This record gives sequence, structure tokens and C-alpha cells, in this order.
Amino acid sequence: MFPYELSVVALPLSTNFRGVSFREVALFEGPAGWSEFSPFIEYDSKESAIWLKAALEGAMTKEPTKLREEIGINATLPNTEVENVKDLLSKFPGCKTVKIKINDFKKDRELLIEVLRHIPDANFRLDVNGQWDFEEAVENINNYEKEFEGKIDYIEQPCLKMEDLLELRKKTESKIAVDESIRKHLDQDPSILKTVADIAVIKWAPLGGTSSALELIEKIDLPVVISSALESSIGISHGLSLAQSIPNLYGACGLGTAVLFKSDITSNPLTIIDGQIKNKKIVPDLIDEFKVKPDRQIWWHNRINQIYQEGLI
Ligand SMILES: [Mg+2]
Repeated sequence: MFPYELSVVALPLSTNFRGVSFREVALFEGPAGWSEFSPFIEYDSKESAIWLKAALEGAMTKEPTKLREEIGINATLPNTEVENVKDLLSKFPGCKTVKIKINDFKKDRELLIEVLRHIPDANFRLDVNGQWDFEEAVENINNYEKEFEGKIDYIEQPCLKMEDLLELRKKTESKIAVDESIRKHLDQDPSILKTVADIAVIKWAPLGGTSSALELIEKIDLPVVISSALESSIGISHGLSLAQSIPNLYGACGLGTAVLFKSDITSNPLTIIDGQIKNKKIVPDLIDEFKVKPDRQIWWHNRINQIYQEGLI
């Protein structure tokens, strides 16, 4: 049985992200501090169990040895309208690396142009979430490379199929990062990812927590970017601890996303200063303001019970 008292909160987002306008997360405190269980609502028990493993480890285990204090942060922009870009960028002070969710070149190139109006020396990480087929990927990536020469840091998960990713390396100049591919290869030999990508995007909760992530990082043997799964500041602080402990960190991390919430669960939040965050233990002193109704609290309890009942943890 789950041994901790669970506080479920619903945090309003300032912009629609992944099609949601608020994010439900379940928080609890263990001997090592506060932790977070927040798989997206639609995830099944099997996938959620991995997040629960991360959450339990975060509550019970001391953080790994730190190799650095501050973590460089990339700005994170959803696939938004051009008129929102300025306001979104202002939430990420000093961040020169800008990650944008994109669908295509034709419309979304405007987003990059708008970013450059405000940050002329910005460089871009374009996250496609595996949506392109091979031909679309070649065409879009080459268009982006041509128009924004020298400004594309990498393309994140342009295609899902391994053979497409492999072929892309021959047809385009851009560095490729894998994200979704990593979770797909959890049960297989992850060292194969090195043949299709230059960078591994690692997320604390979806990969089962700090020790699992560190093990995986060693096996993948690629430079790493730690990114969030739109967690509250509690989950983000665990992601930051992971980033602090990794020898082969590639560069800025996608761990600034707590600013995309209208409000935080703490009065003492993680703050981006000069494009960096200094990690600290987060105490959620504002839980009462965002508590969900009893039916949602029960839903989350049932969700955890189901994971135990199915023997997934
Ligand atoms: Mg991604």
C-alpha cells in the first residue's frame, strides 16, 4: 500500500500546453523530502507505475552527488500564436536557447522570426514529437537550416521510426535529439540510440526516477539534456538534482517550465536568473489554495491503488 498522505492539486497553466489548461499533480512528503506523482491523466497503469517509482524514490532517497550548482535553462514555447511569443519569452529571463514545439516550416517559421526580434542571438531546439514522416522531415529540416543557418541547435524527435532517423542523418545537417525513442527503448538495448541521434533528452519521472535515469544515461552514452514533463516545482527540483549530477550534460536544460503555470505551489519558487536556475528544496506551502475537489482526490488514490493491485510496483 502507498505509505504517504497524498495532496492532489490542480495548477492553472498560463497557456494551453499539450491541450490542457491546468495540470493535476499529486504531492507527498517522505523522509527525504517532498515528491511528486503526476503522470498525465490519460496514461495507463503500466506507464504511470514508472512515474510512481520516480516519485517514491524522490521521497525516500537522498539526492545524488552534485557536480554543479547552477543549471542553464532553455526557454520553452508551446506551439503558440506569434503575438504570445514576447510575453512567453519574458518568463525566461536571460535564456538564449529557445525550445519550440513545431508542426511545420510554413507557419511555424514565424515563431522563430519573432523570437529573433526579441533575442537576436537566440538558438533553437525544434521539438516535433515524432510527427513527421521521412520526406516531411527532410524538407522541413532543410528549410529551417537554410533560413536560420547556424541558429538551429538541434531537432528533437523529428520522426518516430528508427530507420527514418538513421536516414535523416545522411540527408540533413542538423543534430538530432531523441526523446520519445528513449521511452520506446526502455525494454531493449538503449545503446542503439547512439546510431540515430546526437543528444538524449532525459526526463526524471517518465524514466522512473534518478537512479534509473543515471543508469540509462550511462548505457545510452550520448550527451544529455534534462527536460521536464510539465511537473510542478517539486518534480522540477528532482529534475534539477538529476541535471546537477550528470557528467555529460549537453547544455541548457528544459527545466524552466514551472513559469508556464499561472501560480506555483510554493511561495518560494525556483527562479530563472540570467538563464540559470539554482536548485533548492521546495516546500509546497500553498497546497491549500489549489486542492482539487474530493472526487479528484479519490481518483488519484484509486490510480495509485490500481498500480499496486496490478503488481506494477
Ligand atoms: Mg520532446
